[in-house]
Amino acid sequence: MIVVMNPNAEQASIDRVMSEIERMGARPHLSRGEFRTVIGAVGEDASLDATRLASLDGVEKVVPIMKPYKLASREFKGGDSVMSIGGGKVPQVKVGGHHAVCIAGPCAVENEQMLYRIAREVHQAGATILRGGVYKPRTSPYSFQGLGLQALKWMRACGDELGMPICVEVMDTRQVEEMEPYVDCWQIGARNMQNFDLLREVGKTRKAVLLKRGLSASVKEWLMSAEYVLSQGNSQVILCERGIKTFEDSIRYSMDISSVPVAKQWSHLPIIVDPSHAAGKRDYVSALALAGMAAGADGVIVEVHYCPSEAQCDGPQALLPESFKELVTQLRTIASLTGKTFADTGVPV
Ligand code: PEP
Ligand code: MN
Repeated sequence: MIVVMNPNAEQASIDRVMSEIERMGARPHLSRGEFRTVIGAVGEDASLDATRLASLDGVEKVVPIMKPYKLASREFKGGDSVMSIGGGKVPQVKVGGHHAVCIAGPCAVENEQMLYRIAREVHQAGATILRGGVYKPRTSPYSFQGLGLQALKWMRACGDELGMPICVEVMDTRQVEEMEPYVDCWQIGARNMQNFDLLREVGKTRKAVLLKRGLSASVKEWLMSAEYVLSQGNSQVILCERGIKTFEDSIRYSMDISSVPVAKQWSHLPIIVDPSHAAGKRDYVSALALAGMAAGADGVIVEVHYCPSEAQCDGPQALLPESFKELVTQLRTIASLTGKTFADTGVPV
């Protein structure tokens, strides 16, 4: 349920409601809107006493949240959430509301030199967040699995040098502790969307989480996974549509464009699209990226490689740097039609 505070409610009243919710065995989640504060009370415990909460000082009303995903729902928060990725040595990049984000880089970090070369190219072209996998979820155990911690350290140094926050996939709960000091944004891969222990673990951190949609997950299941992260107190969740399995075999996955307006209607969380993994082939990447933005997405994540034929992972879908640059220009135009703006990288175009 949510406790809606009076517009002029004092901090002491807010604190009181929070501690009362805790006393009832639930977790309080504070959301300060432009006009008023609401407190979500969520927990396994059905012992929440709505009448008691409604009687507390500064409380306007107590309303139940009907959706199974509570903190992710529009009922909990009517306005669009704006997430912040980065900070510290790198700038804070915003996503959501009027802020569109462009994340780009290689599928996997193969060596230090290739990482820096691709990172410079995507930065020059207008990407503000650097992606690069260091632990790769591969269908075959004999395929390249990623270079692990060493590659993550290169990612960190490269992001710091260029002023780009980094987004890196975490595959296992055991990796969270060693990776946390280096990453700005966790990527939860499609295959791990329902790895509930992992979701809880990144939920305990305060780094942003890019949550890919599972290969055969419904939008509702996807939002329930977001709820796992949010329920741990981490409010920085960004959804990512990356294509789902359908009967269509002309393309690697079917990018479900309709999930963008659906997720936007049901949830206040930002949503971006990943046209690279949906397409599986570079010819289709730009069209899907533009379609996603036109449908109202808050940005894109795109794989780029200067020599895709030598890439150790996902080469066929990697855009060449020139094509990526052209795509960014087109994305800026589409974004302006939906009232969004891609942040400037500070690099002259
Ligand atoms: C990736 O981003 O390289 C990746 C493996 O993505 P997904 O989990 O969407 O397949
Ligand atoms: Mn990939």
